[in-house]
Amino acid sequence: MSRTITVKFGGTSLADASQIRKAAEIVKANPERKYLVASAPGKRFSDDVKVTDLLYSCYSEFARGNDYSEVLAKIKERYASIITELGISFDIGAEIDAIEQELRTYPPADYLASRGEYINSKIIAEFLGWPFVDAAEVIFFNENGFFDGEKTFMTVNARLRDLPNAVIPGFYGSMPDGKIHTFSRGGSDVTGSIVARSVNADVYENWTDVSGMLSADPRIVDSPRPIEYITYTELRELSYMGASVLHEDAVFPVRKAGIPINIRNTNRPDDNGTLIAASLPSDVKRTPVTGIAGRKGFTSIRVERSQMNGQTGFGARLLYIFSRNGIPFEHCPTGIDTISVVVNSSMFDAKRDEILREIKNELAPDFITIEKNLAVIAVVGEGMVRVKGVAAKIFGSLADAGVNVRMIDQGSDELNIIVGVDESDYESAVKALYRAMIEQ
Ligand code: ADP
Ligand code: ASP
Ligand code: MG
Repeated sequence: MSRTITVKFGGTSLADASQIRKAAEIVKANPERKYLVASAPGKRFSDDVKVTDLLYSCYSEFARGNDYSEVLAKIKERYASIITELGISFDIGAEIDAIEQELRTYPPADYLASRGEYINSKIIAEFLGWPFVDAAEVIFFNENGFFDGEKTFMTVNARLRDLPNAVIPGFYGSMPDGKIHTFSRGGSDVTGSIVARSVNADVYENWTDVSGMLSADPRIVDSPRPIEYITYTELRELSYMGASVLHEDAVFPVRKAGIPINIRNTNRPDDNGTLIAASLPSDVKRTPVTGIAGRKGFTSIRVERSQMNGQTGFGARLLYIFSRNGIPFEHCPTGIDTISVVVNSSMFDAKRDEILREIKNELAPDFITIEKNLAVIAVVGEGMVRVKGVAAKIFGSLADAGVNVRMIDQGSDELNIIVGVDESDYESAVKALYRAMIEQ
């Protein structure tokens, strides 16, 4: 049986006609690349605006009752120049008219946001001479807005099974009432993974503007080393913690089916990129630490009560206070008489007074200490567990860089060590950890 590859091209890979030509060449170079998931046109240069962002600002003008024609004209112009330069006949005027028509029914913002991938995919389908399959007809969410995997995988499979090729827009699907619903930002990565799973692809190729996952954020560390191989679990950890090259939910559909993800660079198609799989070839040599990622914007709430350890249910009651206020916790390091809950700062700030009152009333703590402006950094690697002295090296490097560690947590799967530092120390901490743990 012939192999099947699902490819997803990100916004920068499809930002203008010359990028779309590169994507088309990549696809045509291997007939196994049968199904293409496309993003909306992204940035062509660093202070350019993504079409998706233009669509969101168009919607906010519309929702405020303002004149949105100027921004809609900009969107039309982006596509018009792509169409002209590709030399295809495509009626962009009709697409824009359809949007204006739909706006009369006061659709949700998601509808307008989705038009970026919808129109781009139709253009790319026309250019390649491939059929276009609208994601609204095959990707489903339930009435609460959660992705409906069972129905989606079946429908995508039934629809694509008899098509030798297809272009499918990323980022959106539809609700039971037929209304358009999107994934969170960057969600075309998730669509690509869903399509790969539905057609039982041999590989899910995710084409972007870097030659794979890098071992640290390239905006902080100068030319970080690329990661050749990484497991799904490590990738999930790094992308959740802020390595934004792949959407954090993109591993789930393919991981279940054991389909490897290959992150590759549209501008350097000969580079191998990063291969992500459940386990790695045994002859692959890797450093104990695979990558470093982090995020700012956390608050730690530290609750102290003498002889806390002797009381059952103290931690559970504390976490329940956060959960009933709708705040998920990120980390929860504990001591003998202390327990800290680390949460997203903006979520906490909105509920701060209620939460503190409930903690005081229900748990009668001796002290509550709140530490704001915390950045959380994860040092991730499946090899760490087998190597002595990793933790010593991590903390030694931070001390040498003059970074004060304000929180430590080790994931229960021993795959990562999490450190909390002051936001103002974030960049220097990432640099120090990279130098000590990866560059060496
Ligand atoms: P696309 O438009 O193709 O979906 P994204 O902008 O979503 O691309 O993701 C690629 C970008 O992710 C890179 O250009 C890079 O700036 C950023 N990035 C952040 N952390 C990492 C990392 N650890 N490895 C690679 N890229 C990263
Ligand atoms: N275009 C959407 C965004 O900018 C989805 C994506 O590119 O993956 O978030
Ligand atoms: Mg992306």
